[in-house]
Amino acid sequence: MRVQEIPIEGITYDQLKIDRIPMTEEYIERDPTLVRVANRAVVINPCRTCMPLGAMFATMGVHRGIPFVQGAQGCTTYVRYTFCRIFKEPNMIANASFHEDAAVFGGRKNFIEGIRNLVVRYRPDVIGVVTTCSSEIIGDDMVSFIKMARKRLVEELGEEISSQTKIVLINTPSFAGSHVAGYDRAARAFIETLAAEKTAPNNKVNIIPGMLNPGDIREIKHLLEAMGTESIMMFDIAGVFDAPLRPPQSIPCYPKGGTPADEIKDMANSLGTVVLCPHEGGLGAQYLERKFGVKAILGPLPLGVHNTDIFLKNISELTGIPVPEQLLDERGLLLDFMADTFHHTMMKKVAVFGDPDIVVGVTRFVCELGMEPVAVLSGTPSKIFTKEIEDIAREYQCNPEIFNGGDLFEFEEHLKKIRVNMIIGNSKGVDIANELEVPLVRVGLMVWDRVGYQKRPVVGYRGGEFLLAEIVNALLDYSYPDDRTQQL
Ligand code: SF4
Repeated sequence: MRVQEIPIEGITYDQLKIDRIPMTEEYIERDPTLVRVANRAVVINPCRTCMPLGAMFATMGVHRGIPFVQGAQGCTTYVRYTFCRIFKEPNMIANASFHEDAAVFGGRKNFIEGIRNLVVRYRPDVIGVVTTCSSEIIGDDMVSFIKMARKRLVEELGEEISSQTKIVLINTPSFAGSHVAGYDRAARAFIETLAAEKTAPNNKVNIIPGMLNPGDIREIKHLLEAMGTESIMMFDIAGVFDAPLRPPQSIPCYPKGGTPADEIKDMANSLGTVVLCPHEGGLGAQYLERKFGVKAILGPLPLGVHNTDIFLKNISELTGIPVPEQLLDERGLLLDFMADTFHHTMMKKVAVFGDPDIVVGVTRFVCELGMEPVAVLSGTPSKIFTKEIEDIAREYQCNPEIFNGGDLFEFEEHLKKIRVNMIIGNSKGVDIANELEVPLVRVGLMVWDRVGYQKRPVVGYRGGEFLLAEIVNALLDYSYPDDRTQQL
C-alpha cells in the first residue's frame, strides 16, 4: 500500500485519511455490474443466518423447552456454537443425527427414537420440532412422525407422563428464509399449538419481542412494570441466555427463565398482542387476532424517543393506564443526554446494517440524534423495509441508499465510494469498519466479539441512553486525540 503525503497544517481531523491504492500490477478492478447481489448467483458475506436458528432461539425462550432438530448434526452444532459465542451460556438442543440412511430413506426412525430419548431423560415441558433443509427436501411427513412418536411415548411411559410434554412442529426449510422467518414461524406454531381456545379474559398484554438480547427483554419488562401492566412475555430468553451460575436445583437442570407453556396457552385471553419486531412474531399475533379477536399491534421496535413513545401509547390504549411520571422522567433524561451530546452527533454520516426491524429502529434514532443515515442494509429481504426507511428519510430529509436483502459485500463496496463517520451493526461488520477505518457501534443479536452487550438494552429510553453513549464515545475515540477530549 502506498501512503499519500498528508499536509500537516490547515486540515481537519477527519481529513486525516489514507487512500488505499493496490500495490499489485495485476490488480483487477471489480466488475461493477456484479457488485449488487441481485446480479450475482452467490451471496458474499451474508448478513443473515439460517431459518432453524430463529426457531431454536424461540423454543429456548420457553420454560423447560428444548428444540429437537430434524436434520444433520451440523445444523445444530453451528447454532449451539453461535449461541455460546454470543451469550457464553450452555444451551440444550437435541438432534435427530441424520446420516446417509436418514438422508436417503427419511428421518422417521431417528425422530421417534430421538423424541423417546429426550422425554425419558429430560422430561421437557415443550419440544419444538425444528425441521431443516434436508428433512424438508426429503419430504419427511412430520405430522405423522409426531403421532407415531406420541404413540411410542404413551406405550412406554403411559398417557399421564407423556402428555406432560407438548410437541410443537415448526417447519423451517432454510432455503425459504432466514433466522428472522424462523422465529416468526415459531411464534405462530407455538400459538397455534398451545393457545387452542379462548376462556376467561386475563387483562394481560402479550408481548412478542423478537430476537432481542436479555438486556432488552428486561428493559421491556421494566417499562411494563412501571406502567402497572401485567404481561405475557413470549419467548422470554432473559433468564435462559443470561442465567445465574448456581448449583443445580434439580436434575435434569433447566434454567429458571423462559415463558411457561401455560402462559402461551393463555395468550388467547389477552387484551392485545404487541409485536416489537414485526418480522419476528407478526405471524403469531395475526393468528391470535384472526382466531380469537386479540388485537395485534405490529411494531415499531421501541428504540429511541419516538418509537418508545409509540410503544407506551399502545400499552396505555390497551390497558387504559396513563404513562407514569417515572417514565416521563426517563424520557426527559434521554432528551437531556441528546441535547448534551448533539454537537458530537449532528451531521455525522452513518451506515446501518442488520435485521430489518432493528435497522429501521436504529435509523430513526440516529435521525433523532441529528446524524445522517447514508446507507442502510437489511440482510433479510422484507416487503416493508424499503418503505419504512423511505418514510423516515422523508421525515428527516435525508436520502440513504437502501439495500433490502443485500449482503455485506455490496454494502462494503458502496461504503468505499462514500464517506461515513460510523457504522452501526453487529460483529459481522468488524472487517468493513477496520478496512474503512471508522468505528463500529455494535447492536443486534450477532455480537460475539464484545462482552456485556447482551446484558445492556438498546430499547426504551434508558436503552437509548446506553446506545447514545456508545455512539458518542466511539466518535470521540476515532475523531479526537486524547488531549482534545479534555476540552469537551
Ligand atoms: S442452511 Fe440448512 S443445511 Fe445449513 S445449517 Fe441451516 S438447516 Fe442445516
